[in-house]
Amino acid sequence: MPICQSCGKRWTWKQTIKTIFKLKCPYCGEKQYESASSRIRSGVFWLIPLVILPINAGFGFSVGTALFIAIILVFIILGLYPFILKLSNEEEPYW
Ligand SMILES: [Zn+2]
Repeated sequence: MPICQSCGKRWTWKQTIKTIFKLKCPYCGEKQYESASSRIRSGVFWLIPLVILPINAGFGFSVGTALFIAIILVFIILGLYPFILKLSNEEEPYW
């Protein structure tokens, strides 16, 4: 789970999901950023559905089924996201 770099408190899964798009600490209210290393990891994470989809097509699933699987995957990834998320006080450059 992510730890706030401002106050050092660990966010719970639920708190992380709640603030997943804003990344605002529920304890001290400070804006947090995803650290560069975490962003690379989560980037790979978000690529999984894109990799799955062509495999899906290979099995001859209909567009509806593929879309359904993709949506399920997005929810699974979103659910796992707090486990890989690492916070930073400043927006870190990629390189
Ligand atoms: Zn905090």
